[in-house]
Amino acid sequence: MLVVMKNDATKEQVRAVIQEIERLGYRGIPMPGAQRTAVCIIGNKGPVEDSQLLTMDGVKETIPVTKAYKLVSRETQAESTVISIGDIKVGAGEPVIMAGPCAVESEEQALTIARFVKEYGAKVFRGGAFKPRTSPYSFQGLGEKGLEILEKVRNETGLLIVTEATDHANLDIVEKYADIIQIGARNMQNYSLLRLAGQVSKPILLKRGFAATIDELLMAAEYIMSEGNTQVILCERGIRTFSDTTRNTLDLSAIPSIKEASHLPIIVDPSHAAGRREYVIPLSRGAIAVGADGLLVEVHHDPSHALSDGMQSLYPQQFGELMKEIEKLRH
Ligand code: PEP
Ligand code: MN
Repeated sequence: MLVVMKNDATKEQVRAVIQEIERLGYRGIPMPGAQRTAVCIIGNKGPVEDSQLLTMDGVKETIPVTKAYKLVSRETQAESTVISIGDIKVGAGEPVIMAGPCAVESEEQALTIARFVKEYGAKVFRGGAFKPRTSPYSFQGLGEKGLEILEKVRNETGLLIVTEATDHANLDIVEKYADIIQIGARNMQNYSLLRLAGQVSKPILLKRGFAATIDELLMAAEYIMSEGNTQVILCERGIRTFSDTTRNTLDLSAIPSIKEASHLPIIVDPSHAAGRREYVIPLSRGAIAVGADGLLVEVHHDPSHALSDGMQSLYPQQFGELMKEIEKLRH
């Protein structure tokens, strides 16, 4: 249930409403909006007795939230969330492009690619220091050394950094170095990691699991938000289907459908969806056309020698083309 406050409700009145919600045995999370504040009640199993709440100063009305997810729902917050990180805004209309290699392999590799993607207009550099790999024998990432390289990339290029935390053990250190913390597809339902991600101070990029429904993705985002971190960016990265010409199937309908259900921004990763660089530009065009708030794209200057995901990594010049295509779509 949502307790909607009057336009002129004071902070004290909001605080009193939260206290009353706690007295009832639930939690109240304030959701400040452009027009008015609402307090979302979470933790209730059934209907909430709202007669006392309705008599309180500053309270306008109560509205039932019908969905199982509350904080991520558009019923709770009608305006789209805009996440400001440095001088970029995710969800504000201008697509935010995050690009870089699958994995940080060396300082030279990361800096070379970062200089290219910056030149072509990317605002965020992606690169995994901790890699979740299907095989335990595949390259697992450089770990902390990779994070130090990412810091150098930020210092030298001014690009923001998105990199993945794969478990509890590396979340803290990733938080220290990253501007945006990625939670990968394989961890979308790692609920204890999601709860911890809800307690960090950095925005979270939450990737959809490859067999996860949209409701499950939104419930995963709810785990993060219910711990207090409201800065969640969703990411569609392809789901597993019977189609056998691509690594995954990019679910473009997820974008309008999530935009309807939730106020959170959503970006698209065409690289892991396609599995082949030839399809990355057309899929990116589609993603922007259906309203994605940005892209997460793999780029490598020497993909045939990449330690992971070379087949789906764009050459730098191709990334330049992609940026031009996106620019054209926006006019
Ligand atoms: C990645 O972004 O490199 C990655 C491992 O992605 P996903 O979690 O979507 O497979
Ligand atoms: Mn990858």
